[in-house]
Amino acid sequence: MSTVTTSIVTPDGPVLEADYEMVSCTAENGELGILPGHIPLVAPLKVSSVRLQIKGRTDYVAVSGGFLEVRPDRITILAQTAESAADIDVDRAEQAKKRAEKRLQDKQANLDQIRAEQALNRAINRLEVASHSR
Ligand code: ATP
Repeated sequence: MSTVTTSIVTPDGPVLEADYEMVSCTAENGELGILPGHIPLVAPLKVSSVRLQIKGRTDYVAVSGGFLEVRPDRITILAQTAESAADIDVDRAEQAKKRAEKRLQDKQANLDQIRAEQALNRAINRLEVASHSR
């Protein structure tokens, strides 16, 4: 089966580069499944998981926002943060989730509520992706 070279990059450096048969991710507009030879595309991504399939295996990476760029021979994801499932510190994500939930219960300014919701979203996403770690 043909493959497409896929890289995930953050401001801290590259997180992953490998060949995959299919890459699925969650754009602001909905789910995308990218196969080799896909037409060029740029799409903003949600805080979500990127699922990368090769030879019956699926690798999972948690991304916090960013952009997907598709070219026929290459997929690039530029994300603010990205962690492979095995690299996620579950205790840290659980602590972040608790902190965010506590902040959401407190009556505070709107900005803090939005930031707490975003932090909660990131933590829930990391915990979901970490659950796929083998
Ligand atoms: P925290 O409050 O735990 O820092 P956060 O959502 O505010 O969580 P980010 O600002 O999104 O953290 O990320 C800061 C850096 O820490 C990034 O490099 C990110 O990849 C890393 N990171 C955040 N949470 C985790 C985690 N649970 N496991 C591994 N790396 C993490």
